[in-house]
Amino acid sequence: MNSFLKETAASLLKNKGDLKGVKVILPNRRAGLFFTRHLSQLVDKPLWMPEITTIESLFYQWAGKKPADKLTLIYELYLHFRSLTQREESFDRFYFWGEMILKDFNDLDQFLVDPKRLFTNLKEQKTLDSDWSFLSPEQVKLIQEFWASFEGRDRYHQEKFLRFWDILYPLYTRFNAAIESLGLAYGGKIYREVALGLEKLSEPTEHLVFVGFNAFTAAEEKLIRHSVKRFGAEIFWDIDAYYLERPEQEAGLFFRQYLKDPVFGPTFPNPIPRQIAQQKASIKTYTVPLKINQANLVAGLLDQLPEAEHWEETVVILPEEQLLFPLLNVLPENINRVNVTMGYPVKQTPVYTFLEAALELQRYTKIEDGLLVFYHKPVKELLSNVYLRELAPDFTQYLMDELVRTNSIYYPAEALQKGGGIFARVFQQLRSDTILEVVMELIRELAAPMDESSMERTYLFQCYKQMNRLRELFEKEIREEVTVEFFIKLFRQVFAETRLPFQGEPLEGLQVMGVLETRNLDFKRVIICSMNEGSFPPSKAMDSLIPFNLRRAFQMPVQEQNDAIYAYTFYRLLHRAEEVHLIYSTAAAQGQVGEKSRYIQQLQIEMEGLGVQKSDTSVHVPVRLTQIGPICIEKDPRLLKILDRYTDRSGKDQVGTAFSPSALNMYLDCRLKFYLTYIAGLNVPEEVQEAVDPAIFGNLVHQSLENLYAGFISRKGRNRVEASDIDSLKKYISPAVEKAIRSQYFLEDGAAIKLTGQLTIVRDVLQKYLSGVLEQDKRTAPFAIISLEGNKKYQAKLSVDTPTGRMSVNLGGIIDRVDRVGATIRLIDYKSGADKKEFSSIGSLFDREDTSRNKAVMQTFFYGLLYESRHPENQLPLQPALFNLREIFKEDFSPYLLEKVRNGQSHEVIDYGDYREDFIRGLTGLLEEIFDPGQPFDQTEDRAKCAYCPFAKICSR
Ligand code: SF4
Repeated sequence: MNSFLKETAASLLKNKGDLKGVKVILPNRRAGLFFTRHLSQLVDKPLWMPEITTIESLFYQWAGKKPADKLTLIYELYLHFRSLTQREESFDRFYFWGEMILKDFNDLDQFLVDPKRLFTNLKEQKTLDSDWSFLSPEQVKLIQEFWASFEGRDRYHQEKFLRFWDILYPLYTRFNAAIESLGLAYGGKIYREVALGLEKLSEPTEHLVFVGFNAFTAAEEKLIRHSVKRFGAEIFWDIDAYYLERPEQEAGLFFRQYLKDPVFGPTFPNPIPRQIAQQKASIKTYTVPLKINQANLVAGLLDQLPEAEHWEETVVILPEEQLLFPLLNVLPENINRVNVTMGYPVKQTPVYTFLEAALELQRYTKIEDGLLVFYHKPVKELLSNVYLRELAPDFTQYLMDELVRTNSIYYPAEALQKGGGIFARVFQQLRSDTILEVVMELIRELAAPMDESSMERTYLFQCYKQMNRLRELFEKEIREEVTVEFFIKLFRQVFAETRLPFQGEPLEGLQVMGVLETRNLDFKRVIICSMNEGSFPPSKAMDSLIPFNLRRAFQMPVQEQNDAIYAYTFYRLLHRAEEVHLIYSTAAAQGQVGEKSRYIQQLQIEMEGLGVQKSDTSVHVPVRLTQIGPICIEKDPRLLKILDRYTDRSGKDQVGTAFSPSALNMYLDCRLKFYLTYIAGLNVPEEVQEAVDPAIFGNLVHQSLENLYAGFISRKGRNRVEASDIDSLKKYISPAVEKAIRSQYFLEDGAAIKLTGQLTIVRDVLQKYLSGVLEQDKRTAPFAIISLEGNKKYQAKLSVDTPTGRMSVNLGGIIDRVDRVGATIRLIDYKSGADKKEFSSIGSLFDREDTSRNKAVMQTFFYGLLYESRHPENQLPLQPALFNLREIFKEDFSPYLLEKVRNGQSHEVIDYGDYREDFIRGLTGLLEEIFDPGQPFDQTEDRAKCAYCPFAKICSR
């Protein structure tokens, strides 16, 4: 296919024959590479090639210098800013502003603005009319408008701005003088020097040819005009009448001005090409619901192309870089070469995420008992990072599990370093004098196993280069103390805006590019993603400290010029394209509904009369619009076999898997929840719990009470507790609670407990509850402790009839405390929640429709059954009791269950035996249902039960 660069090369060859002594200047290096290739394809004999360069290089060449790197310049700027303002601002805090100030200085130099007049002292504005007579009335009006609006602002902000504005001119002059003396420069400074010294410039030996320019800076315009006028330079314009001749088309904004210029005007082609109208491209637009769907759509479009396609004639343009890796991951397999040319933000690379997490880790270290420990969040972040996971999948998974199992808020470095190599390097405490070296070593280590040509290695290399530069700066220039904190902040600042310049070569294969990288290039097939307002054209406000009116008055670029540049970049792609695919998404971003780009809107209106083929396609990603149907698990033979684990059919002599009261209560709440938890064995992923949630609090209560009485029995060598023992037991409350906390958080004996604020409160509350229990026990004493939860798991069997035959079902549970008071055995359950002791009937305990079904009561009756099973000889009454700690301080506290009888009256449950028959009947009915093949595991109809269910997402509830 023909292209602008190919035609330009052909035209030069035709006119000059030999290109020796010709210098071709293009807007960027990429265009230069394509130009060279076209030229070499056009010649069939040895020939002098022209020198091919960029406009930027031409300036640097004529000035005899190159710009220094940004870090050095910003640091120099910082030194002068600090001395001018006398402020003790740190470099990392200044960096952001430094970048902006440097950019503004660069702009004003490139546009040849007089800094003194721009940064004039606002307090002397009375001189405006006389002093600024060189400005046009419109420019003066713009400046006056700015000051008028500025005067309206509140005093505080006005003063602040004035103070800042007043230092900009002295800062500019001092900074420029300083870098001059150091032999340094920035781009704009070089441009200004060259543009202002053109008259003294001797005629170059080469014939200059400027190719494919659109928007000149003032310095470029001056240089090119001078070159045309004085040295007979040529210009090749890459234009089309379509936008040039329509004043409403922003794409033609600059060309219309240049066309009227006495020097540039005659260099325009005559007639102006009308390629867009002649090409009659097929233009297709696509709507996708989510941004990420664009990658799949592009892959689908490419997949339809024939095998023998010249891939270099197809370009995929990504105005949003985030789409790069999703796209590369889904490209069809027959595309074996891809050239990526775009600036990719370092912040979005995995290596940045990894290094940032490694540095973040350093901010939360501490020494506990002489050991280095790290806060669990950055540790988790690092362990889930792709680099460490790929390197040692088992070790990282083991550490993740350990973190959760031990519920460690801080995790010891020693355990993390056991992975050796990179683990030892990452999980160490970094000192300010080693931090940079370690980070660079980490990059080297990550890169070592990677393929030489891999993209990952490329961006690791680019990051390494930046770090190297940072090191040089620290070694030679930064004169303040580099603390770890300072380094981390600077690291973030430096990489915040850094982009990795991907420049794929050779020019073969599918081309993937950023928008501005397409300048001067033509493709047969153009696919543009993110054709949304805000992406293409971008809506990013200009980063500048110079207010809009002032930029405009001093003819520095404002948004309007930016828009014109993007519009030209878009329309230029239509010059020679045969197929154009424009994709936009309707996904809302940052609170805005996804709106299609104005370019699509424009095309839809403008192309009517041009005979261009258009089509609009909405790409639907299949989504399930129907409600998810009920989930119902039928009891097939395989499932019934699993259920056999709970019965004597399991083949085990001893009681194997047993139904606990919690499992049965869960079954009554929701059969599906029971199935998912106990049959399918779905575990809710555990997390490190920093906060003491109700479940942890409940554990601490149980363990503390267990410790208290187990300690008593062991010390005294007896299980009988007298009222007189209780007072002496009180001093053991604190150790009992501490032991419970130690066990909950896996702290070894002797290791000091560091209590967080919340845990301190929890400890105090626990101690209070324990003293409440002791007070109640004192009233009941004497009593004898028969068993505590730690040493007794009660088990029982119950025969039930099922459609598949009679079977013996295993039951089991742990009773918190069994004691004997007088001639009564008490079956005690400690409760830290708001459980009630009233129930209406035994039947209600098994009635899932009963919204006030009392689970705690069902549980304590269940203990009656378990106790009797172990002690069939028992003749004493078994009294279930609930020690509800929230009520323990009430004057009339009683732990015994209350059965509601007539007229709102209730009576105390004295003996489980009185209820045994009914309870066993209810329980048998429940177990028969569980084993009934005709009763599936289905969802509860009471949606209130789903509120805190971990499976609510599965059930869409
Ligand atoms: S979300 Fe509701 S229906 Fe689903 S398992 Fe949980 S309780 Fe049952």
